[in-house]
Amino acid sequence: MSDLLEQIKSAGVVGAGGAGFPTHVKFARPCEYILVNGAECEPLLEVDQQLAALHAERLLAAMDALVDLAGARGAVFVLKKKYADAIRKIEATLPRYPRLCMHALSNTYPAGDEQVLVYETLKRIVPEGGIPLDVGVVVLNVETLLNIAEAMEDRPVVDKYLTVAGEVRSPATFRVPVGVSFGEVVAACGGATVEDRVFIEGGPMMGKLVFDQDEPVTKTTKGILVLPRDHPLVISRGRDMAEMMRLAKTACCHCMLCTDVCPRYLLGHKLRPDKMMRLAAFNSTCERDAAATEAFLCCECGLCETACIMGLQPWKLNKELKARMTAAGIKNPHHERPERANPFREYRLFPVWKLTRRLGLSKYADRRAPLSEYPLPTSRVVLKLKQHIGAPAAPVVSRGDPVERGGLVAAGEAPVSANVHSSISGVVTAVEQDRIIVEASGGRENE
Ligand code: SF4
Ligand code: SF4
Repeated sequence: MSDLLEQIKSAGVVGAGGAGFPTHVKFARPCEYILVNGAECEPLLEVDQQLAALHAERLLAAMDALVDLAGARGAVFVLKKKYADAIRKIEATLPRYPRLCMHALSNTYPAGDEQVLVYETLKRIVPEGGIPLDVGVVVLNVETLLNIAEAMEDRPVVDKYLTVAGEVRSPATFRVPVGVSFGEVVAACGGATVEDRVFIEGGPMMGKLVFDQDEPVTKTTKGILVLPRDHPLVISRGRDMAEMMRLAKTACCHCMLCTDVCPRYLLGHKLRPDKMMRLAAFNSTCERDAAATEAFLCCECGLCETACIMGLQPWKLNKELKARMTAAGIKNPHHERPERANPFREYRLFPVWKLTRRLGLSKYADRRAPLSEYPLPTSRVVLKLKQHIGAPAAPVVSRGDPVERGGLVAAGEAPVSANVHSSISGVVTAVEQDRIIVEASGGRENE
């Protein structure tokens, strides 16, 4: 293992954009191009665009080092045209790095989907059921790249950047210690502005509902969206499959609007959410050319629901089918390599302003969430042993052990796993099956 790969592994770097794939595993094989994903296409999130503007020099230096590590021809920093500040800073720094360049996308969703990003930037189509490396590309998030820059200076991942938006007094983007509670982070924004509130962890399209304010921030928490419990987005997220399928039987008018906008269908993949709905609602006799296994090709971006005039949720059906087929040992049989994307693709791209309006989030969208670099003080952190894809990390500390901020508390020993470090100095007060709790010995850390 090269020195840099060892540093990345040792620092516990994982995909910070939400996926959590261990980064040292991603770079274990060579690639032709590296794409840095700064699309940040989910409404209300403002982390990566601000990091790109603030840390342009460090980010590009790390990118250049990764080009050597991966034996790549070059790397592309991908932003959206609307991120004027980030574009200006990156462009001003690029002349020092001849192997690097920048690409700017239009403001559509899901521009940050890995496969969409690869197509938009390099015009390469990832095969059905494949990953970007199948076409010679590795994609990583801006914050992941910043964590690599930190790892190059032997600093592990102990902080997380996230945006807090929605029903809070002052929306903000924070650097917080991994393991701090949602409640503490929301309190730092002046608190919630509604009594009966719930959280969405991540973006409004792909994030998950969280009800407990003690939920800890992990290395993949990109945002905390605070919404009233009766917000349409919360209600649709909470609707169970049985109810959704009951609605589908009576309400699906087979208009195909869901398929028309599906980003994977538009890349030429054989995923047709309208047919999946017919298949599930009326069984296979009326859809002989569709198979449940098409669900494996769904990235769960949720755009099919946004496009559906009946408010149906093909993505939820696909998610359920994937889980059931995987549990039954059924594997994805679809591996076609489309040569070209749908000819109407460019006319069907979904603007973020329209998405924001349909989600009922327009009233929050005009309030900016400026970045504060000073780490949020806290006296207690809950460090999950599985903050990444793969096997959980194994504890290397016991109850009562003193730990320093940055000290290793759990080791990612399996081939796909990641180290976990303490984000504050203090004492280990609990080692449980899925988490380690550290409490500061005297007062709040970082104060
Ligand atoms: S958009 Fe909705 S109503 Fe139209 S085919 Fe898809 S699921 Fe059915
Ligand atoms: S969530 Fe819907 S729009 Fe997105 S990839 Fe899956 S089927 Fe297509």
